[in-house]
Amino acid sequence: MNRLLCFAPLLLVTALSAQHKTLEDLTKDAPLILAGRVTSADSYIAEDGEIYTRVRLEVAAVLKNTEDVSPAELAFDIKGGQVGDRVVVFTDAPRFEAGEDVLYLGTTTQPEEKINLASATGRKALDRIRQYREDSGTPVSDFESSRLNRFLNRQGKLNSDPETFLDLDATTCSAYMGPKWSTPATTYGLASSIPSTWASAIQAAATGWNQGGSKFAFSFSPSSPHTISLADLGAGSTLASTRVEFFQSSQQMVRFSMTFNNRYTWTTTGQAGQFDVQNIAIHELGHALGLTHPSASTCAEETMWFSAGAGETKKRSLEPGDKNGLVTLYGAAGTTTTPTPATTVATPSLTYFALATTKAIATKPLAIVFRGTNLIPANIEALLTGGVCGATGCTVKPAGASTTDLVFLNTIPAGSYTIRLRNGAGNPLSTPNTFTVTAN
Ligand SMILES: [Zn+2]
Repeated sequence: MNRLLCFAPLLLVTALSAQHKTLEDLTKDAPLILAGRVTSADSYIAEDGEIYTRVRLEVAAVLKNTEDVSPAELAFDIKGGQVGDRVVVFTDAPRFEAGEDVLYLGTTTQPEEKINLASATGRKALDRIRQYREDSGTPVSDFESSRLNRFLNRQGKLNSDPETFLDLDATTCSAYMGPKWSTPATTYGLASSIPSTWASAIQAAATGWNQGGSKFAFSFSPSSPHTISLADLGAGSTLASTRVEFFQSSQQMVRFSMTFNNRYTWTTTGQAGQFDVQNIAIHELGHALGLTHPSASTCAEETMWFSAGAGETKKRSLEPGDKNGLVTLYGAAGTTTTPTPATTVATPSLTYFALATTKAIATKPLAIVFRGTNLIPANIEALLTGGVCGATGCTVKPAGASTTDLVFLNTIPAGSYTIRLRNGAGNPLSTPNTFTVTAN
């Protein structure tokens, strides 16, 4: 049976038509299935420094319930979200947006799957659940049916065919998350939960991308902040999940981590009935460098295709769409980047620097104020080094800028940073200032 690598509702169309068991299994396993509307989804930073999103779901109809509760509303936290300029995405966990009408599968406190109802996929899923209940002798009651129908009717016109217009690049089978690394390289490290026998399979997956025709290179480093681990990702269909953190304004990645779900049985030799480490690692590393799932069914052979089967090893080798995406993001191997021309762009000259926040903490946006001359508002940016940005640095854009004043408003993970200004990438940097962000 195929499993989802990442949960992307529009892609379930294919899974539903090709592998009927997936949703039936989910339906069988989930303690709670309901239809409802997401009334709010608010991101916040918790004490552990991680971004979470508090989701509230108004329940329209309960389709299955083994927990003996009849919630009118669910409220639960999911990992990931956006606070200020800082964004954290978990590529494989369900995500919720305010206003969405969804099928929710899970427990009262933890979603396992989410399917957007305003799509052909959602209707198919609903029909399948109804059929499953008929078959298992617990049909949807008239009462539930009438509530559900009222709910569906108030949705207005359904998206006619979302999966076709959402497919941005069906010809090339390359799809992009948006953010990428500022330099074509990142390290990765292995947590102690990763069996030692997996190291070479993960290395082979990294090498697959390193030989994909671009300048990009993954390299193993025991001290890397970007870790790969094995842990419990729940009973849903997620095989593995990659956490990607980036700044919204500059679309620059600063951190990734990857987790294999220990609820599945893993193999490094493509053994039948088990999931192959290299096959999945190379897909997840594709997320870690900025690619996402191509959705056209003609792209099903790509490594970045959203689902994988037990015993499958075909993703170990990259396909044209994977390689094209890689090269588009990071440039072709062997080509040289155009050197920054000898510049006449003025270097920002600073006369004032201050943190306009009594305490610089990772859980709140940090206001940084500059005054000076030679500031070009359209191009000015700050280069942060240290902390999560390392020696390579992160670029952030100001929330407000004039030729003499700048305000940056960013939520920055804990660490000690050096900040310098420049009038656009490649131009000379101002004198440095330093600041420290504490965890709380
Ligand atoms: Zn994926």
